[in-house]
Amino acid sequence: VPSETWPLIAVVAVAVALVASLVALMRGRELGRLSAGNNGNRAAPPAVDKPGYFREELLRLADAAEIGLLRVGEHGRIELANETAHGLLARSDGGLLGLSPIGAFVDHRIDELLRQAASLGSPQLELEARADPQRTLLIRARRDEGGTWLIIRDLTELRRLQRIRAEFIDNLSHELRTPLTTVRLLTETLATELERTEVLPPRIRDAIVKIDVESGHLVQMVNELLDLARIEGGEAPLRTDEVDLGTVIDSALERLRLYAERQDVRLHAELPAEAQERTIVGDEERLEQLLINLIHNAVKFSPSDGEVAIRLGPREDEVLIEVEDHGVGIPRADIERIFERFYKVDRARVRGAGGTGLGLAIARHIAERHGGRIWASSEEGTGSTLSVLLPRGPAMHSPIDL
Ligand code: ADP
Repeated sequence: VPSETWPLIAVVAVAVALVASLVALMRGRELGRLSAGNNGNRAAPPAVDKPGYFREELLRLADAAEIGLLRVGEHGRIELANETAHGLLARSDGGLLGLSPIGAFVDHRIDELLRQAASLGSPQLELEARADPQRTLLIRARRDEGGTWLIIRDLTELRRLQRIRAEFIDNLSHELRTPLTTVRLLTETLATELERTEVLPPRIRDAIVKIDVESGHLVQMVNELLDLARIEGGEAPLRTDEVDLGTVIDSALERLRLYAERQDVRLHAELPAEAQERTIVGDEERLEQLLINLIHNAVKFSPSDGEVAIRLGPREDEVLIEVEDHGVGIPRADIERIFERFYKVDRARVRGAGGTGLGLAIARHIAERHGGRIWASSEEGTGSTLSVLLPRGPAMHSPIDL
């Protein structure tokens, strides 16, 4: 290479180096900007990472679902509450924060609920809204680390619909009762006439007997519907007094004697001789209704030539009544459910027309209103025993607020 070309090569090399570094610099900037972009995001992290973001999101979500949500911290003060909770508890925005739960709900039972939440999982409480007693609120408490969540639902609409349903059933049964009573009277007259006359063809005779039986069922159904609507609506307060359960059982048996005879079932009672052992404080009429429902079922599900036993046994502070039959029995899967309204095991198993499925729902209400309980034990094909345990003294509390 001629010596005079060296400077030229040097200039070119310097130029190339310059261009290269310039390009590198620009790419660097570009990368820098890109990463600056990312860094920019990282420098202002998404709200998801902000402490409390999830909680705020939860409160908003609960608002959207119209559920009141608030949180009581370890120090026993409300530390979070959504808009719905403020609305339901009639506080202006933020007004719940810092309050004690009693201060917020103005109901001492809320403290008990919070205590239960520590041991019981998810207890709940129904109460009237402070600002508007027409409003019914359901409060559920759930404990977790560092505090307790209170979930508030407005039950006003549900309760209103339940009231409408009860009123509807009540009205309907009243309306049905009058014409049914007339039909009953007429068929009874016809049935008496039947005994006196021989001229009627058997076909008509049968029809009259059937009308008599079926209208009897209808009257029973309507009466049960009416009873249940009243008991559930809290409209039938107990009239308590000293009651001799022996007398009540005798009277129930007397009323069912004819029915049992027709079904060819014998009724048999075992009662303690001592009047004191048979006596409790309760509502005589309701207790008779409970017994009639149990004995009626026992007869209904018994075979011909069957026997139903009613036993009364004193326990320490309680009295146990058992109604035992040797009939079809109750399948294991249904045994818990037979006390639900309208629940029936299987229509096909009943001799003659079935009932409403209300009898045991009513019986359970009556037992529980007396502070007692009712249950069934049974083996399919062998028979059933329905048991009622009633406290001797007046009921300390009733699950239905009257
Ligand atoms: P129902 O009017 O149908 O008798 P209940 O509420 O009295 O209504 O009873 C509910 C259901 O429980 C009955 O339909 C029947 O399937 C079952 N059940 C009640 N008592 C007995 C019994 N003693 N033996 C067998 N099944 C019974």
